[in-house]
Amino acid sequence: AHLDRIAAVDGAVHAFLHVDAEGALAQAAESDARRAAGTLLSVLDGVPIAVKDVLATNGLPTTCGSKILEGWVPPYDATVVRRLREAGLPILGKTNMDEFAMGSSTEHSAYGATHNPWDLDRIPGGSGGGSAAAVAAFEAPLALGTDTGGSIRQPGAVTGTVGHKPTYGGVSRYGLVALANSLDQVGPVTRTVLDSALLHEVIGGHDPLDSTSIDQPLPPLVDAAKQGADGDLTGVRIGVITELAGDGWQPGVMTRFQESVDLMVAAGAEVVEVSCPSFVHALATYYLILPAEASSNLAKFDAMRYGLRVWPEEGASAEEVMRATRDAGFGDEVKRRIILGTYALSSGYYDAYYGQAQKVRTLIARDFEAAFEKADVLVSPTAPTTAFKLGEKLDDPIAMYLNDLATIPANLAGVPGISVPSGLADEDGLPAGVQILAPALADDRCYRVGAALE
Ligand code: GLN
Repeated sequence: AHLDRIAAVDGAVHAFLHVDAEGALAQAAESDARRAAGTLLSVLDGVPIAVKDVLATNGLPTTCGSKILEGWVPPYDATVVRRLREAGLPILGKTNMDEFAMGSSTEHSAYGATHNPWDLDRIPGGSGGGSAAAVAAFEAPLALGTDTGGSIRQPGAVTGTVGHKPTYGGVSRYGLVALANSLDQVGPVTRTVLDSALLHEVIGGHDPLDSTSIDQPLPPLVDAAKQGADGDLTGVRIGVITELAGDGWQPGVMTRFQESVDLMVAAGAEVVEVSCPSFVHALATYYLILPAEASSNLAKFDAMRYGLRVWPEEGASAEEVMRATRDAGFGDEVKRRIILGTYALSSGYYDAYYGQAQKVRTLIARDFEAAFEKADVLVSPTAPTTAFKLGEKLDDPIAMYLNDLATIPANLAGVPGISVPSGLADEDGLPAGVQILAPALADDRCYRVGAALE
């Protein structure tokens, strides 16, 4: 049914870069056999899933939305993909994304933009717009995304889907093509909070192949979502972050956000205002740390080891081949960030930019610590606006970066966050999202409070 749906709507939505109909049907047939034999591998055995194209999939192309990896077929699975297979989830295919996960609209994909199923002239968010659009358009019931600065949560908000960024280290990054290693996390993109919890329990937990993976059991996520679904938040302290609301935020997004807070109060929660003064510097901090790490990560695309190789002329030197390949293979946004990152890391500027950014990052983490003394979870709208028109912000990098205002602090501090639909904004009838943040390792709180809003 999902393959039929993809065939019917993906020409217009363009959520997928690659559909593996044959593989998915074969996996589904195996699942059917297990169901008949009573030997299902997990509660999600047989439920198909779409995977963001930044995760290595054995035997399936993995492009990261970039020309430089066109045609590359990894010889191994990312740990999260291996866990999907071990739990019996058929993999439908790979979803579109901003090149190397840099962007907030999926327009920076080298393979064309994804369209928001709510309005095909609008963006589906980014960088994981393909995963969110696939779930919103009923092309897949579940998807995997990655969130370095909001790429699970912001697409979730603007497509009316649920997206959870786990605690840093809570889900393995092995086989995830790194954007910024200290910020990246893999997480679920779904239509309900319970689905996210179920998927998170499949992909999460310790992995010896990722040195930053936390060697501790996951908290009971599915139980927390079920508890929240009963609609009882008695005793839960909700902190509304002063710095992430107010002027400059779309009025319809703020109205739905306020209603979400009212719902929490009606469910028995207590609301407090919390101030996180350093959050106003989060965007600037992120856009130094991220390009620094990304420029270093992208150095490995040198035309020697993977994907594209461009010969400028016969007998060209290795360096000339590398230059020509990187020039042809990377898009404008990727080049912009390589230049920014290389500059920020260069000798003489390191202390002024990268070093300074790391200090502000610590202040942001401390703001979280102080806020979590007063509140069990923190809430804000996920994104300042609903989905904007395709092309609207493409030539204005700063306007594009501003979409991540509310999502970035969680990545800088490594704390978990979920985006849950809060309703449709009055001005345009488009979905808005509410973000629920919790202390590191307390992902269960996100699921409990999130499920209470459904
Ligand atoms: N919009 C952010 C960026 O462009 C999101 C990145 C991400 O989460 N992958 O960096």
